[in-house]
Amino acid sequence: MSQLVLVTGASGFIAQQLILDLLEQGHRVRGTVRSLTKGERLKDSLRPHSARIDDIELVEADLESDAGWPEAVSGVDVIHHVASPFPMAAPKNPDDLIRPAREGTLRVLRAAKAAGVNRVVLTSSFAAVAYGWGDKLPPLLTEENWTDATNDEDCYPYVASKALAEKAAWDYVQGEGQGIELTTILPVAVMGPIRSAQVKTSVGIVAQMMQGKFPMLPDVGLPVVDVRDVSAAHIAAMNNADTIGERYIVADEYMHMDDMARELRAAYPDYARKIPTKRMPDWLVKFGALFAADLKTIKMELGKRRMGSSEKVRAVLGRDLIPAREAVLDSAKTLVQYEAL
Ligand code: NDP
Repeated sequence: MSQLVLVTGASGFIAQQLILDLLEQGHRVRGTVRSLTKGERLKDSLRPHSARIDDIELVEADLESDAGWPEAVSGVDVIHHVASPFPMAAPKNPDDLIRPAREGTLRVLRAAKAAGVNRVVLTSSFAAVAYGWGDKLPPLLTEENWTDATNDEDCYPYVASKALAEKAAWDYVQGEGQGIELTTILPVAVMGPIRSAQVKTSVGIVAQMMQGKFPMLPDVGLPVVDVRDVSAAHIAAMNNADTIGERYIVADEYMHMDDMARELRAAYPDYARKIPTKRMPDWLVKFGALFAADLKTIKMELGKRRMGSSEKVRAVLGRDLIPAREAVLDSAKTLVQYEAL
C-alpha cells in the first residue's frame, strides 16, 4: 500500500538509495534538505534513476533548528530518520557532531510525536555497538551490545555521536515519546553504488584508494555492507510490525584493506599503479597518529576485528546480503562513471 514517507537528509548517500527504492515501490516521498537549492541539485542527480523524481516533495530543515520539522512530518505515515553529520574529518569540538546527532534525533522524534506520526525507522550505526570495548571486544557483536562512549581510548566523536543519538532515541520512546514505534538500523561501513557525483562518505575509502591518497595500507580492515541492503533493511522494517522495538545490524563480510586493494587493482588495472601494495607498519600508524586525526582513528583499529552478526537482519529480509566484494566494486564502478575520482 502506498504511504507518504519522510526521509530526512535526502541529499545523503544512503538516503538517495532509500528514496529511489521507495519511489520504485510506489510510495510518495518527502525529503528534508538543508537548502532547497541543494534539493533541486539532488533531483537533477536522481532524475536519470527514476521517472518519479519530480513527485518528491522537499522541505528545508536543519537538525540544529526547530524550523521546518512540523511541516516535514505533517501527514506522513512513516519517518526514516537518516540525517546525521558524517564529516570526513572530525571537528575540533566533539560536541559539533554530537549535538546535531543527538538533539537532532530528539527534535525529529518530538515533531513526530506532536504530529501524531507513530512509525520511525532510525539509521543508527554499527558504531553504536562496536566501540569502547577496549581489550574486551567480543569476536562477533550483536544487537544486544552497546558502545561505551565514555571510553575515549576506543571511541571517537562520530562514534559517540551515533551511540548517544540512538540511546537518546530509545530513552525518548520509552518515556515522554511513548507510542512512537521505533526500529533502528545499524549499518557497518556502507559501500555500493553512488547515485550522484557529490556522494562520498564511506565510499571515500574506495575513492581515496583509487586516487592514490593512501601511500601504504595499514594492517586494519572493516566490515562492509551494500547501500542497497541498508535501504532494503529500512523498508523491510517499515513494512513489518515485528521489527518495532528492535535494532538490526546490517553487515556482510569483514574486508581487510589488503583484500579491498587487491580486488580494486584486479578490476581496475588503469588505477592499479595508484592503489597501494605496501604495508604501513604499525609503529608508523602510531607515530603518525600523534599528528594526524585520520591516523588516530586507524590506530584505534590496529589489532581489532570489529564484526557484527547479520543473522537478525537476514531473517527479516528473507535472503542473504549482497557480498562485500560486490559492494566495493560497485562503488568503484560508479565513482568512475560519475568522474568522481
Ligand atoms: P551522508 O553524509 O551522505 O549523509 C548525511 C546526511 O545528513 C546528508 O543529507 C546531510 O545533509 C545530512 N545532515 C548532516 N548534518 C545535518 C544537519 N545539521 N541538519 C540536517 N541534515 C544534516 O552520509 P551517509 O548517507 O553515509 O549516512 C547517512 C546516515 O547513515 C547517517 O546517519 C550515518 O551516520 C549513517 N551511517 C552511515 C554509514 C556509512 O558507512 N556511510 C555507516 C553507518 C551509519 P547535507 O547534504 O546538507 O550535508
